[in-house]
Amino acid sequence: MAYAKLSGALLVQKGAPIAEAVSVPRVTPAPSTREGDGLLARHLKSLKLPTFLSQYQRVAQQYAAEGLDPSGYLLRLAEAELIERERQLIERRIKQARFPAVKNLDSFDFAAVPSLDKNLVLELARCEYIARQENVIAIGELGIGKTHIAIGLGMAACQKGLSVGFITAISLIRELLEARDEQRLLRLQRRLTGYKLLIIDELAYVPLTTAGAELLFDVVSQRYERGSTIITSNLPLDEWYEVFFGSKQLAGAFMDRLTHHVHILDMQGENYRLRQSKRPLQQREDNGTGRGKRIEPGVGSR
Ligand code: ADP
Ligand code: MG
Repeated sequence: MAYAKLSGALLVQKGAPIAEAVSVPRVTPAPSTREGDGLLARHLKSLKLPTFLSQYQRVAQQYAAEGLDPSGYLLRLAEAELIERERQLIERRIKQARFPAVKNLDSFDFAAVPSLDKNLVLELARCEYIARQENVIAIGELGIGKTHIAIGLGMAACQKGLSVGFITAISLIRELLEARDEQRLLRLQRRLTGYKLLIIDELAYVPLTTAGAELLFDVVSQRYERGSTIITSNLPLDEWYEVFFGSKQLAGAFMDRLTHHVHILDMQGENYRLRQSKRPLQQREDNGTGRGKRIEPGVGSR
């Protein structure tokens, strides 16, 4: 087998014309197996193909032992490398998103929130709205599962390799004010604009100061038609302007940007945890999916 010596020295001779003074990968004479393995390991490292490196010997042995077509060997390794890179990218995206907890849509009990359009949520989980830079607003009382749904959609976006940021409205405004005071607002704004999906959780609990409202408006405005934003709130949309903005003009501009392309998730019902604690034990284990054991009268209730 011949090995290309990619790291070979320039093959330049004094006085050689320019065209000849180009580094050409030189094919080295066939090295011994040990030399070849060492060289191959070096090349795979320089090419940043760690999965090739960790798997090529095992796959080669398998191909030799099973008498498989050797042309498939490279394909197998290339696929393994790609799968591993994708796995690492997803892991990185989830870490960078800084979700407060790991939640998936799979564990969401849709039956507990009949007002929520399950098909819409599942459609959103396909992340096509992100390519269209559309926004999502989830409205509902405390404990109804808004944050769970928002994280679930965020996780779905990470699975697609998209960049996601998760932050509560309070933290976002605090960070923006701090960044402004420390003359690094532009850098933070650039980061916030860069996410394909930004989740702003709990726009509700603290009315905004004028400066806070303006900075929040800037974030939504800068992201307009560049990325998607999910906002969760316990207040109906028509109450936002009084509570958050105090200025009808700013509220109007904010809502205009946010709701131009928007999906509303209407979540009404009882606080999920409270509801769970009121239910018999076996029903709780069933998690509302209807797949658990049948409940016998008088069994499992506390
Ligand atoms: P909210 O953000 O609306 O206040 P959360 O999403 O924080 O509510 O929900 C509170 C807790 O209850 C979380 O642990 C969440 O996973 C759980 N939860 C809420 N609704 C559901 C549901 N329908 N199915 C499964 N878990 C739920
Ligand atoms: Mg919440």
